[in-house]
Amino acid sequence: MAAAGDPAGTDTAVFSRILLKLSGEALMGELEYGGDPNRIAAVAKQIKRVSDRGVEVAVVVGGGNIYRGLASAAAGMDRATGDYMGMLATVLNALALQDSLEKHGARTRVQSAITISEVAEPYIRRRAMRHLEKGRVVIFAAGTGNPFFTTDTAAALRALEIHAEAILMAKNGVEGVYTADPRKEPDAQFISTITHREAIERQLTVMDVTALSLCMDNKLPIHVFNMDDEANIDRIVCGERVGTVVSTSGQ
Ligand code: UDP
Repeated sequence: MAAAGDPAGTDTAVFSRILLKLSGEALMGELEYGGDPNRIAAVAKQIKRVSDRGVEVAVVVGGGNIYRGLASAAAGMDRATGDYMGMLATVLNALALQDSLEKHGARTRVQSAITISEVAEPYIRRRAMRHLEKGRVVIFAAGTGNPFFTTDTAAALRALEIHAEAILMAKNGVEGVYTADPRKEPDAQFISTITHREAIERQLTVMDVTALSLCMDNKLPIHVFNMDDEANIDRIVCGERVGTVVSTSGQ
């Protein structure tokens, strides 16, 4: 295994197509709200590196750093309205990431599940796959396009639709999945491998249950990893064991 810091170096990628899920939080860095340009640039650099290896990369971005429908519903807003606002928030993140990726020399397309033709292509599965084949990074914005869902579910859905081999689930400041939230419970144990079913039964914070069951039913592996280590995406793509692997066999 070659040095993970070696851009498009001697390592051979073990995946040909991946879907990276970036929560809004992953783009927030140290900020309380919104996107941190330095953090977004660091993410863009990592994506460019794996794309240079010839790995096809699709990205689903969250929006929790800007807006969460559930929080507005709690404050009395109609849930569906809040959720549509949340989906629009993901578009802002998608455009910020696109801009940064292109500054790093990547070719990109944003496809949105809500039509906003002036700024992004509509989501068209076959077109997305064609972009990927041509080496473009495709950023999926606006989640599933439906209220009452999350961008985790969008990640599972899009990954299955485009035949991605795995979902790479970026976490902020934690190495993967633990028996409890390590930021709240210092005794929480790290879990290196687990099955989807066990993760659901033990209510572990991999992704929400709808998303996780979709992955379980379709045997789609999920690699949960710490975004803070800038070599991690490249390491996973090159087959190194990083973070937690959620799979059908749990191995
Ligand atoms: N959302 C939605 N449908 C989707 C995806 C997202 O309604 O398919 C809304 C929902 O209100 C959510 C917000 O968009 O709270 C932001 O997405 P999410 O919470 O998944 O972002 P993340 O936690 O990944 O930053």
